[in-house]
Amino acid sequence: MVTQEHESLLSDTERTQGRSALRNNVAAASALADAVRSTLGPKGLDKMLVSGGDNNATVTNDGVTVLENAEVEHPTAKMLIAQSSAQDRQAGDGTTTTVILTAELLQNALELIDIGVHPGLVERGYRIASRESMQELYNFSKQATEEDSLKSVMTSLSGKSDEGVREQLSTLAVEAAAALTQQVEGGMDADASLVKKIHDLGRPSVESELISGLVLAKERLHSEMKMYPKGGSILILDGGISRRKPDIDINLKVTDTGMIAALNAQELVDIQDRVDAIAATGCNLLCARDGIDDDARGMLLKAGITCYRRIEKPDLELLARTTGSTMVHEASLARAEDLGEFTSLTSEKWGGVTYMKLVGASSGGLTLIVRGTGKTRMDEVARGFDDAMGVACGLVRDPQVLPGGGATQMALARHLRKFAPTVPGREQLAIEAFAGALEAIPRILAENAGLSPLDEVLRLNAAQEADGPWIGLNILTSQTEPMDEAGIIEPLAVSKNAISGAMEAAVSVLRIDDVLWANQDPSIPDWKPEEPED
Ligand code: ADP
Ligand code: MG
Repeated sequence: MVTQEHESLLSDTERTQGRSALRNNVAAASALADAVRSTLGPKGLDKMLVSGGDNNATVTNDGVTVLENAEVEHPTAKMLIAQSSAQDRQAGDGTTTTVILTAELLQNALELIDIGVHPGLVERGYRIASRESMQELYNFSKQATEEDSLKSVMTSLSGKSDEGVREQLSTLAVEAAAALTQQVEGGMDADASLVKKIHDLGRPSVESELISGLVLAKERLHSEMKMYPKGGSILILDGGISRRKPDIDINLKVTDTGMIAALNAQELVDIQDRVDAIAATGCNLLCARDGIDDDARGMLLKAGITCYRRIEKPDLELLARTTGSTMVHEASLARAEDLGEFTSLTSEKWGGVTYMKLVGASSGGLTLIVRGTGKTRMDEVARGFDDAMGVACGLVRDPQVLPGGGATQMALARHLRKFAPTVPGREQLAIEAFAGALEAIPRILAENAGLSPLDEVLRLNAAQEADGPWIGLNILTSQTEPMDEAGIIEPLAVSKNAISGAMEAAVSVLRIDDVLWANQDPSIPDWKPEEPED
């Protein structure tokens, strides 16, 4: 209970409570959903994001990119954005869908609360509906064939690029996921973070390609250092080899020139000791994060060790993972146990740039060469590949697929409407509200394609009644047809995560009945896309 004494502590704070707090939060969620609803589906429009200071523009059709770049103040909107980002991390797709579903669930909840249904009861009904949906999904999902996987990845990229690039990126992602597939506890997995991306400006995006091994724009320290096309061992140094600066400031009064020579000699001995320690591990290749002195370079050459320096930390980590090395922080502490293995090290040159190419023995690692004729285009291709990889790797973990084109959400809504009356009590109202929220997906897909949302939802409902849950709305032909034949397929994990994530987000907003604004303007909606200056 807030006593009077406590109230006075809140004097600087705006406060909204109960119904008006909820109304305010729902309005914020709806404003956010409105900002991205026009991007949903293959005919969704692009958004141009202009960042404040430098007027840098990004053109994107990606819901989560829009949201993550928006300057949002409202805490509810921030929660929804976090939910959408979580969807992106967990399922690699379905971010716009999550935001739209959350907002619809909240709006429908508010309508029920307005006619006297308690928020706690809405929460219970929503949880029952979500659980029922999760089970029902498995009743009409199917095991993905290789063709289905490719089609699902292509569906996830729909509206993102032109057909040729989409097909190219999807093929590369499916190929990459297959190459990275590993047996793990409890099944299969593929780790998308083992793909290194490098950008090659100037050639068309369809020429983007995947190379097995890690490719870094690095040249070896000395042209006489050997390549190892048949493999060898690698030491990874999270540091460098240069003359040590003394730990304390010392002022030396040089009285004779011999003193400088002696100091110099001492430093060289110190560097030689470190190179000796590296050589004693028996490595063929040294990759270091920092600089390697000229003196050390000569010594390494003499010791027969090939060396690359100034490798960025994330690349160093990738090298360590693909070769199974343990990074060492100090050359003198290197041990043979820290070494990793590679199966080939070669040097390649394209577009006037020299690259090192290494194939690790522990897990090969892959490099995607992202091409494009402009930077904006290249960035969009790189993001498209990330989405595609997320979906392709997801399918390695769970190879079940569902129909797209609003079919899955429609089928669930239809099921829930039949299921609701079997649940005693007012919870059935919330289950019906949940079904209504799911129908927003086919509705908005139709709307974005310039079709009548109401008519299309009715038509889809009737078509599913006749021919089952795989009938969806193909926006490209404006027909209701079997989605497997149309190739509009989605991973089960994407729909599953989107629905359960939206439910959790909506429920956590419903539970809030008191919002304290510390010296902030509580007016909403406060999401506004920034206008590009002309
Ligand atoms: P999200 O961020 O939620 O993935 P998208 O803009 O990628 O949003 O749109 C995904 C939706 O578009 C999915 O519901 C998918 O089934 C649908 N979709 C994709 N291609 C088609 C198509 N040809 N016809 C109808 N719906 C499609
Ligand atoms: Mg998508």
